[in-house]
Amino acid sequence: MSYTLKCPNCGARNINKTAWCEKCLTPFNPPKAEDKSLDCPNCHHINDYLLDHCEVCHEPLKPGQSE
Ligand SMILES: [Zn+2]
Ligand SMILES: [Zn+2]
Repeated sequence: MSYTLKCPNCGARNINKTAWCEKCLTPFNPPKAEDKSLDCPNCHHINDYLLDHCEVCHEPLKPGQSE
């Protein structure tokens, strides 16, 4: 099964799991399900990425935040 990525910049089809377009070298950022969630560093509950704090233990999910 081939896996193709269409370059958002030049439209070239890249047939491999490449990290960037072979023609114009635009980096690809393939959507990953993990990117839509935030793993709580405290209790490891999977939170929606829009949340700032864990919905279970209220631990801050994004580093560098100060109250
Ligand atoms: Zn390209
Ligand atoms: Zn938590």
